[in-house]
Amino acid sequence: AHLDAIGRLNTQLNAYITVLPEQDVLAAADAADARYASGAARLMDGLPVGVKDLFCTKGVKTTAASKMLANFVPPYESSVTARLLEAGSVFLGKTNLDEFAMGSANITSAFGSVLNPWKRQGDDAALVPGGSSGGSAAAVAAGLALAATGTDTGGSIRQPAAFCGIVGLKPTYGRCSRWGTIAFASSLDQAGPMTRSVADAGLMLEAMAGFDEKDSTSSNRPVPEFSKAVGKSVKGLRVGIPAEYRAPGMPEEIAKMWEQGIAWLREAGCEVVDVSLPHTKYGLATYYIIAPAECSSNLARYDGIRFGERQDAPTLDGIYERTRAEGFGPEVRNRILMGTYVLSAGYYDAYYLKAQKVRTLIKRDFVQAFEQVDVLLTPTAPSAAFAQGENMDDPVQMYLNDIFTVPASMAGVPAMSVPVGLDSRGLPLGLQIIGRHFDEETVLSVGGALE
Ligand code: GLN
Repeated sequence: AHLDAIGRLNTQLNAYITVLPEQDVLAAADAADARYASGAARLMDGLPVGVKDLFCTKGVKTTAASKMLANFVPPYESSVTARLLEAGSVFLGKTNLDEFAMGSANITSAFGSVLNPWKRQGDDAALVPGGSSGGSAAAVAAGLALAATGTDTGGSIRQPAAFCGIVGLKPTYGRCSRWGTIAFASSLDQAGPMTRSVADAGLMLEAMAGFDEKDSTSSNRPVPEFSKAVGKSVKGLRVGIPAEYRAPGMPEEIAKMWEQGIAWLREAGCEVVDVSLPHTKYGLATYYIIAPAECSSNLARYDGIRFGERQDAPTLDGIYERTRAEGFGPEVRNRILMGTYVLSAGYYDAYYLKAQKVRTLIKRDFVQAFEQVDVLLTPTAPSAAFAQGENMDDPVQMYLNDIFTVPASMAGVPAMSVPVGLDSRGLPLGLQIIGRHFDEETVLSVGGALE
């Protein structure tokens, strides 16, 4: 059924860059069926999954949605996808994304933009699915996958989940291994599930998570049975409402949905508490220094010699220059320029070092808030899905989309977007639940209560 849906809808939605050969998909499904029939079913047996094209998949083209890697076929499997395969998942293909996961609208892919399957009442505008995991979000929302992997550096799982009306969970930094996931900003990158229900997110995270000796930042904490957290009572939990997330100019409908979420949690027996995260206002500025800095360093390897599609030239410098000029799109080039600038000798202290200090303050805000409350509840994004072409003139306008998702990334805490309703034009809106380090279970329980 999912392959059929891909056949019918993918040309239009552009959610997949690569679809796996039908016989391979069916063979994997048959193997899962056989295990199921013999009573040896695994956690994800037979579940059809889309894989963001940022995870290296052995023998399957992995592009990061960049011309630079247009013909890259990894000789190895990323740790997260290896675990998913081990758990019995059936991979359908590789989903589209913003180039190297840099973007909030899935419009920077070298393989074309992804279309949001939702339509706004009253006009026919083509809407963006959010980004960077826009292909995964659109695929799950439109039935082209039951679930999909995403990666989240500053919101790339949560914001597209909100725009497409699905669930997206960014785990605690270190919960899932980063090994074999193409790096954007290594101190922030984290893989997570994108699903149609909170229960599915718990199940899939259980399969993805766990210590990996190949990633020194992966945590050796045991992986709980996350799926059991969903459906658990939230009575008596303390839910914090951070004052600083009432951004000036927040659309009325977003504010209303937030109030609705608060009311639902009160009814479920939660205690609602006003809290303050005073450094929130520096989140976006700090993120857009640290993430480009790390990106400029991580992407230095694509020089046409070590990695990347080589463009020939008479000299070595010429090869570097042509390879990088032709292989990277404009947004990636912007980020590399910003990153090398803030890391350069004259500006390192003023920008990068300062940003690292502010990042510590942001993290401290969360740690202090979690002395008072068990989770925080906020909107996921400052708007519903917008039209393709909007927010394009000014990069800062586009970056503002990440205002509610970036702080949790900076702090490394888990955060999940849950679809809670539709706006007046019929578009989905999401609320974000943020939890303590390694307390995805409480996040999932609260998510289950909101769903
Ligand atoms: N939209 C943010 C950015 O462009 C976040 C991307 C992400 O989480 N990968 O950097």
